[in-house]
Amino acid sequence: MIKTQLYIDGQWQSPIETATRDIVNPADEAVIAQAAEGTRADARRAIAAARAAFDGPWRQTTIRERAKILNRIADLVDRDAAELARLESLNTGKTITESRTDMGDIAATFRYFAGLVASESGAVNEAPHHVISRTLREPVGVCGLITPWNYPLLQAAWKIAPALGAGNTVIVKPSNLTPLTTWHFTRLIEELDLPPGVFNLVTGGAEVGAELAESRDVDLVSFTGGAIAGESIMKAATGNFKRIGLELGGKNPNIVFADADLDAAVDYALNAAFFHAGQVCSAGSRLMVESSIYDDFVARLAARLPRIVIGNGFHAETQMGPVQSAQQHEKILGMVQAGIAEGARLVHGGKRPAGDVYARGFWLEPTLLADVRADMRIAKEEIFGPVITAERFDSEEQALRAANDTPYGLAAAVWTRDLDKANRMSRALRFGTVWVNDYHPYFPEAPWGGYKASGIGRELARVGLDEYTELKHSYINLAPKAMGWFGA
Ligand code: NAD
Repeated sequence: MIKTQLYIDGQWQSPIETATRDIVNPADEAVIAQAAEGTRADARRAIAAARAAFDGPWRQTTIRERAKILNRIADLVDRDAAELARLESLNTGKTITESRTDMGDIAATFRYFAGLVASESGAVNEAPHHVISRTLREPVGVCGLITPWNYPLLQAAWKIAPALGAGNTVIVKPSNLTPLTTWHFTRLIEELDLPPGVFNLVTGGAEVGAELAESRDVDLVSFTGGAIAGESIMKAATGNFKRIGLELGGKNPNIVFADADLDAAVDYALNAAFFHAGQVCSAGSRLMVESSIYDDFVARLAARLPRIVIGNGFHAETQMGPVQSAQQHEKILGMVQAGIAEGARLVHGGKRPAGDVYARGFWLEPTLLADVRADMRIAKEEIFGPVITAERFDSEEQALRAANDTPYGLAAAVWTRDLDKANRMSRALRFGTVWVNDYHPYFPEAPWGGYKASGIGRELARVGLDEYTELKHSYINLAPKAMGWFGA
């Protein structure tokens, strides 16, 4: 049985209150690990260590040294990719193929930021000859990095790579449901011999995250998770006006026009909604189809759904694993029932699959609800499970209005062969990512984040590094002369 501890000030430590939490395999509910359950007091210890480290020799590291550290982390992730992928699938239920992809993306993220950090140089500004005026990028300070349970290590990597690369010190707080890969990653960090306190891991629940958000010794909080926690972090952060980055939920429309390549659109409608059993912030669970092809499209999906292989993520034939927790299972079933009560038509799924192998674990059939209207709850709220809701639309204008009429703005997709329409829709949709004739691809080089209630700020890309830096104007007068302005 794996037993994890906290990592504070360069030492593995037990939480002050020595509490542990059972970590459960969502495929069979077996206890797979006991994780240290930290508290506010542990978070305070980690903050103090990170503060001291930031004010110590870490500040003197050069961009070349930090780029080298990020590249070494990428190499270690590659070296342990099989074990990291195993832990990720064991803890989240996602297929091992998806977890392997995540690990490749994580190594790529560290390498991308290594390159970016190494290319950083301050700008020299135009100024009188006796003045040196420079614009410098400096680290923000102590960063609290709070991550969710659906992409545990990937979301952490998007934060850790730029935070360390920019010269900050960090306290990482993974979801207390899925701490295992972040814990193993911390063991890799230990191999680097960074100064104590530069990297800290405090596993635990909301109170650890709340301490990071409230502490006046934390300069930046980057959070990925749900709206409720996001709102409380924003309020808590007012104490010292700390920098915040919020990556929140989404209600992501996948809009199919009648002129689209329908074979590809049907196939991608499934990818959009069922990767990681729909537990993806950018999941395209809100399918919107032009009326003239709607019935045919729904029929084609209905034919594919029963063929989706649900099973343990470690089995080669499995296409979709369980959802992550009992709470999530219950919430998704509740949303499906709410949709049916509002008049949606259940075409497939909406229940636990039949059979002894699915008796334990958080299993759900891939679900299709048709005849959904834009005013229904299931068309507005994030479901975060393997559910497609299918709406029809009659015009481009109607599709656009309905798609934008949500508090969220994370991701959207448009399917059409008409390039002019594709461009119009891409520009008019108020979402941080808009795909055309595709769904889900992202790159470390491109920004990720949401409009409106989907968050504040962006991760990845150059902007994802800039979020972890302060800009300074350094002005040096080499030959000061008295001005004689006042009372001379
Ligand atoms: P959550 O908000 O419940 O928890 C996220 C993290 O915040 C966890 O580590 C949790 O312990 C911590 N936390 C909870 N309450 C807190 C508080 N009051 N103060 C500080 N920390 C607190 O979210 P979740 O259920 O783990 O994740 C699912 C959500 O994450 C979904 O809404 C999903 O859309 C979103 N998400 C967004 C993105 C994105 O890039 N925009 C990516 C992945 C997930």
